[in-house]
Amino acid sequence: MKLGIGNTTEPLPQIVIEGLHEGVRKLGFVETYTGYGDEQGDKRLREALVEYYKGMFVNLDPSEVFVSDGAKPDSANIQSIFGLENIIAVQDPAYPVYLDTNVIAGRSGKFDEEKKTYRGIVYMPCAENNDFFPDVPSKKVDLIYLCSPNNPTGAVATKHQLRKFVDYAREKKAVIIFDAAYSAFIWDPGLPRSIYEVENAKECAIEINSFSKYAGFTGVRLGWTVVPKNLVVEGAEPGKVNSLWNRRQCTFFNGASNIAQEGGLFALTEQGQKECQRLVDYYMKNARIIRDGVESIGLKAFGGINAPYIWMKTPNSMRSWEFFDKLLNEAHVVGTPGSGFGPSGEGYFRLSAFGHREDIEKALDSMKRNLKL
Ligand code: PLP
Repeated sequence: MKLGIGNTTEPLPQIVIEGLHEGVRKLGFVETYTGYGDEQGDKRLREALVEYYKGMFVNLDPSEVFVSDGAKPDSANIQSIFGLENIIAVQDPAYPVYLDTNVIAGRSGKFDEEKKTYRGIVYMPCAENNDFFPDVPSKKVDLIYLCSPNNPTGAVATKHQLRKFVDYAREKKAVIIFDAAYSAFIWDPGLPRSIYEVENAKECAIEINSFSKYAGFTGVRLGWTVVPKNLVVEGAEPGKVNSLWNRRQCTFFNGASNIAQEGGLFALTEQGQKECQRLVDYYMKNARIIRDGVESIGLKAFGGINAPYIWMKTPNSMRSWEFFDKLLNEAHVVGTPGSGFGPSGEGYFRLSAFGHREDIEKALDSMKRNLKL
């Protein structure tokens, strides 16, 4: 039973299906046919996203929103517009794309086998003692990757925690790359869904988001990145990063699928948002079942409340991979070893709430009956 990968399993909301059909239908008539679109995305979708942000009291201009084929490509590609000498800071543990793309680009030294870290990279440990959200780096860094709600820990940064990073970044002229791919899973109205809910964040933060988990688009492919015009970086005038990202996208990317974008437009309508919320609620009920289930057998669990991931401490100080084998062999359940997300993930284990309800229930039932703790 797979509770490993964060891959969506439930059918798309009906209104989104209608949007995708509409995208296909338009391609069948000469009057509505479209070929290449704007590399930055369909203007209607960019405007709909601007409206979506207004719901969080964030004002953006459509020229600051870049539609893409997903948050993974954007979070991987964004580093390419920055110099190779930039110092990178990542949460530890974190979604591996941030670190690995910078290593591939050449922004790190060699891997330290003992510490399980790359030299030259600033790791920001996230553990129980800081509620799985780090403090700002003690030295100057240039690019800071933050993900909230976090994959893998399920932790959500408070406004106060984000404000500290925004203040740091403005003072040091660093850039925050904020991955909000799971923002729709935040139900607590006191927690920020966008970094731009923090004052002055537009001066220092790029935000990446996705339709994957919100609307079930993991296979359809649609996301977006916000690069504010008044973002300031060291040694460049405001607007420079926006124009560099525009140049990068126009050169390397030919725009998201027009069918996917039509589906995205429908997902952002009032009805679309309602139906997508039902999908999110379904996965969040799974998350509650997992969290309650693992706690009922005496395991310590984090996350899973405003995020679709449950982050467990392994029992008896087992290593992450040891617990992986035990869970697989005894309960026939697959999860993800925490050590794969960074050295601070060692001794932890991630369970994903993306799955059919009956499979989640079966997996938890098996864990309760078969796991020898
Ligand atoms: N960002 C985070 C933190 C993720 O966990 C994932 C997928 O699991 C992605 C981005 C990928 O998003 P997309 O499907 O839009 O590429």
